[in-house]
Amino acid sequence: MVQLDSSLYHQTLQLVSNPSDATIHRTASEQRKARKAQPRAKTADRVARILDDIEDDYGIQLSEEQLWRSLKRSSVTREARQWLWMVIHDAYMVGTHWLRPNMRAELQERASCKACGQVESMEHIIFTCTAVGRECIWHLMGDALTRAGQKDYDPTWGNIIGAACVRMQNQAGSRNLYEEERWAVLAIESAHLIWKLRCERVIANEGAEFTEREVTNRWYTALGRRLDVERRATMLTPGKKGSARAKRIDGVWRPLLEDDGLDSHDWVTDNGVLVGIKRGR
Ligand SMILES: [Zn+2]
Repeated sequence: MVQLDSSLYHQTLQLVSNPSDATIHRTASEQRKARKAQPRAKTADRVARILDDIEDDYGIQLSEEQLWRSLKRSSVTREARQWLWMVIHDAYMVGTHWLRPNMRAELQERASCKACGQVESMEHIIFTCTAVGRECIWHLMGDALTRAGQKDYDPTWGNIIGAACVRMQNQAGSRNLYEEERWAVLAIESAHLIWKLRCERVIANEGAEFTEREVTNRWYTALGRRLDVERRATMLTPGKKGSARAKRIDGVWRPLLEDDGLDSHDWVTDNGVLVGIKRGR
């Protein structure tokens, strides 16, 4: 999958407008210029959509700058950051990108989703596709949050792609940073997994659907791996910084664990403690 993702990445980078290209090819036709300008307009559309959704869901107005800065938070892994950046720039080769006039007919066929016949888009893949996986993953996330005593929201561009900048308050009205980070981790891991499963289904599995059981196992595995990465990084962080980090990991993850009777946050940095993500029935 790593290979597949990286080839998609290079194949699709060309879609992102490059300011230096615009200056070199000044003699290009109006049509060409319009096509080059399109990704920028799409980026602006997506940014606006994310910020509008966040305002609707959480009643806060954020700037575009805050959205981009949120991608650098520790709750967003480097791999996820790259993916979110590509999503916001509409830089993946999906849907209408295959319908450009210079595409051969057999390539144009790739525009539609083989699972439900609609023209694909990132919106379709993450929020509406009926292929096995998407809905199942959002249910798993909602159930995990409910078990952790946290409110679940319907997935939107704002709270999923902009997950690292959502705001959650406790009853006293102050920010609940653990809930915010828990949401960001689950939302981004879940959305990214939906995308990865879609790529495997379409490219590696030639359209064959996953089973719900496979999807469920993949989701728990992805979360387990993410927790391992967090714990390993904390073990390598010395002193007070490491201890603060362990406390934060404990606050964010403990409500999601099978064993929530752990005494302190020592489990985070103790190799001998095996923890698992709590499974629903
Ligand atoms: Zn579909």
